[in-house]
Amino acid sequence: MRNEEYLLIPGPTPVVDSIYDALAEETRAHTDPRFVSRFKKAIERTKRILNTDGEVILVAGSGTLVMEMALVNAVAPGERVLVISHGHFGDRFTKLAQAFGFEFDVLQSEWGRQVSRDDLAQQLKKHTYKAVTVTHVDTSTGVKADLDDFIPLIKQHGALAIVDGVCATTALPEDMQYDYAGEGTSIDIVLTGSQKAIGAPPGVGIIAFSKKAVAARRAMERVPAYYADIENWIPIMEDPSKYFATPPVNMIYAVEEGLKIVEDEGLEQRYIRHEAYGKAVRAALRVYGMEPLADEGDAAPTLSCIRYPEGTDDASFRAALAEKGIILAGALAHLAGKAFRIGHMGNTTPEILESAIRKIGETLQEQGTEADVEKAAEAFREEVGALQTK
Ligand code: PMP
Repeated sequence: MRNEEYLLIPGPTPVVDSIYDALAEETRAHTDPRFVSRFKKAIERTKRILNTDGEVILVAGSGTLVMEMALVNAVAPGERVLVISHGHFGDRFTKLAQAFGFEFDVLQSEWGRQVSRDDLAQQLKKHTYKAVTVTHVDTSTGVKADLDDFIPLIKQHGALAIVDGVCATTALPEDMQYDYAGEGTSIDIVLTGSQKAIGAPPGVGIIAFSKKAVAARRAMERVPAYYADIENWIPIMEDPSKYFATPPVNMIYAVEEGLKIVEDEGLEQRYIRHEAYGKAVRAALRVYGMEPLADEGDAAPTLSCIRYPEGTDDASFRAALAEKGIILAGALAHLAGKAFRIGHMGNTTPEILESAIRKIGETLQEQGTEADVEKAAEAFREEVGALQTK
């Protein structure tokens, strides 16, 4: 890896050389058959990875754009949305709903926990919802949503199930034809970004619509969007030699390579690896007295939000680690200064993560907190080994 630093924030994630090489390929016309065939491959790979028989769209933009695309194409102004929120990125759907004039309710968990199945069942009795949003992993809290619990209830209610996979896709199962409880209880929309578990740089929004979700768009005469209207994109994705708006040519090369790496590794192996990373990082950090915000049962395989031990100063701790080439992220909202976030997804390796664990321990020691670096590294290796060979 030619990176000089280990980027262990919750995305973007470490970019591997073959993706940099793809990015640096010659920029061709977006109508050039050599580019068009790469774009087609990226679309086909996305379809296979999400196992959708509907439509997938890859556009220049970040995760927020595809969150917006999900809502405006599924919900009409005046219709009602339910937002299941496990933190800051769940809440973002409420901002979008406000911006577009959708009626909405929020089921908000205490930070670090999941909304309960019972609370969701109760809420669904109160109104008729056109769509329900679930953030698969909320990047602010490191909490994963249990789709086995939520999707059946949402679908039995008759709402469209929208899954924000920005911090989950390819690290956690998001099979769009999987029937969670029989009788068509499948996810309708999955949206994600290029920069997290897929491991490419930021810049491409990826969104998939089931046939039912496409029908919901078509039932509306128009939507309050132009660039984000899927009707403008579906014909392009079916034939990428056509033009609607210029695709990010080099980023499509990069995403195609990122998705190739995913498919070559295999989704099952990728899920196991991420599960192992999450458990191992948290087990190691616990050795230092650093407690994850989420209980292990709710904790994400892709990133962890970790409380500092008493007396650790967030800014100087992360600055000292950055000097050592380990880049971590601060925590958000009321946790700012009290916790940090560490990403362990995408093409990150056990070697990178063990090195981060060691340097975190050394930094704690330098700043006057006891830390058993060897014990933490051993805890990390034990968990990674045990889970990866499952
Ligand atoms: N959803 C989740 C779960 C996220 O983690 C993020 C980004 N951290 C977003 C949405 C927004 O994505 P972007 O920053 O790429 O717009």
